[in-house]
Amino acid sequence: MTLTKIRDGVYVFKAPTNIGVIAADTGEAIVIDSGIDESVARKLMREAENEGFHIKAIINTHSHADHIGGNPFIAARTGAVVYASPLEAPFIETPLFEPFMLTGGAAPWKEMCNKFLLAKPSNVSEKLPAGPVTILGLPLEIVALPGHSADQIGVLYNGVLFAGDAYISGNLLEKHGIPYNVDIQAYLASLEMLGTLECEWYVPSHGEHSRDITSDIGYNRSKVINLIEQVESWLSQPMEAEELLAKLCSHLAVTAANPGIFFLYRTAVMAFLSYLYEQGRAKTMIQENRLLWYR
Ligand SMILES: [Zn+2]
Repeated sequence: MTLTKIRDGVYVFKAPTNIGVIAADTGEAIVIDSGIDESVARKLMREAENEGFHIKAIINTHSHADHIGGNPFIAARTGAVVYASPLEAPFIETPLFEPFMLTGGAAPWKEMCNKFLLAKPSNVSEKLPAGPVTILGLPLEIVALPGHSADQIGVLYNGVLFAGDAYISGNLLEKHGIPYNVDIQAYLASLEMLGTLECEWYVPSHGEHSRDITSDIGYNRSKVINLIEQVESWLSQPMEAEELLAKLCSHLAVTAANPGIFFLYRTAVMAFLSYLYEQGRAKTMIQENRLLWYR
């Protein structure tokens, strides 16, 4: 794990979820996300210190564990201030909300509280709405990129956009089973918006940074639209969401290998169904105490 320079003062640390580093001339630095745990945070801090950088701020693109897990360690060691968007902040301060949400609001049991689903809590000092903001004297633009999570943000500085999970590099998306998004309409709008930004570099949290993401955006969009159309085609037979999830897994030849992955997939399928419902393309009915989706 090393810092890769994108341009003067802007770096990416692949851990393996990408972490952005933006350094001021003074050596004070902002990190964009913090990795999944203390071990990643420790390596990041060592690398940053080797370059003469002192981490003073953390901006979280969203509240998923692989983006916020290093917050407590970095904040305790450096006094760094944590920034996040208004709706992601409560999940960063109370990460237990995440497994609670995945299990549909029931108290999450032990296997739903692994480090991929439950990070350690950290305090968010300041909430960042979309728009321009200056942190450590550095002029940043906070870009709203909701859809993958409810209130995800990107961070744009000096022509480099740290895009969080708003899109995934094409080569990784291929291996990805069912892409995790909670709001399809917002996700598609964010992809469209990404296509209108004229940045010099784009850094996704998963995959390689690149200068042109036109084909990645197209691939992310068509993958989701194809999966939604596939689900819609099965709705000629009324079906439960979990039945649709099983059909989609066989169709894609992927396996929900453990309950954590099962519930992530389940949320992704529920987001497809919610989108189809709102578009007037699917309805629900209760039959023999089962909730069925149909068209
Ligand atoms: Zn994520």
